[in-house]
Amino acid sequence: MTAKIPAAQYAVIGGSGTYSINFPDDLNRSDIEVINRGTVFKTPYGDSPPMKFFRLGDKSVATVKMHGWRPGVSRGAASQQLFWVFREAGIEKIIAEGGVGSVNHLLKPRDLIIPSDYIDLSMRKDVNLGQPYLLVMRRAVCPDIVGALTGVSESIYGGRVFDRGVYAVTDGRHFESRAEVVMLDRTGADIVGQSMCPEVYLAREIGACYGRVDIVVNYAEGVIRDWDHAELKDIFYGLSSKVASIVIEAFGKLRTDHNCGCRELRKDTLLK
Ligand SMILES: [Zn+2]
Repeated sequence: MTAKIPAAQYAVIGGSGTYSINFPDDLNRSDIEVINRGTVFKTPYGDSPPMKFFRLGDKSVATVKMHGWRPGVSRGAASQQLFWVFREAGIEKIIAEGGVGSVNHLLKPRDLIIPSDYIDLSMRKDVNLGQPYLLVMRRAVCPDIVGALTGVSESIYGGRVFDRGVYAVTDGRHFESRAEVVMLDRTGADIVGQSMCPEVYLAREIGACYGRVDIVVNYAEGVIRDWDHAELKDIFYGLSSKVASIVIEAFGKLRTDHNCGCRELRKDTLLK
């Protein structure tokens, strides 16, 4: 189906934190009204993943499940499709969420991290929308989104919340080996996951602010003890409503004024 892309300023990139629920419907909030669901848009990179648009008070929000990843589509292409739709919709603030492994030995399952930086060890770096910009990643995530997520998480999460951390990005889909986790620890990574890149670059390319909140769902291999599949499953299914509430409440604190300075980190290219 070819559909017209609705205008929206805010976006939620759903990950494993909200995968098990129907987001945002299952929150049953009176200030949420779903406008359309399961809508697929034509993009230059192939059909978009099914997307949902909803109203949150006076804000329009776009959302997608599990980063737009789906069988038969490379994750890089899925991200290009998603961010092309975001750009056309006019998205200005993006919150992503996900589940991560703990590399830092001070972390444990169920800790909540709002990452402040990343190390991209994935092989899918050449993913872009072809716009002529020099993208400065000096301050990768938006300080306003970090502030909003931290404040909300500390008041409603009920577990440990960390307002900084370095996210190492790997390709997946498998988890890392013990030797790889030792390497990640030595590079300065605190957590490991598969989704912060290329999302953080693509957000900068379209001029949108990006921030994210991640739940530690397992110890990385060789850290503390072998992780437990039952516990991972319990976190995966048990904390979804909380993660969803944190994201929605954080949007309530955000404005599209761009005083955060993120857009100044997108410069004109010198390559003509
Ligand atoms: Zn910003």
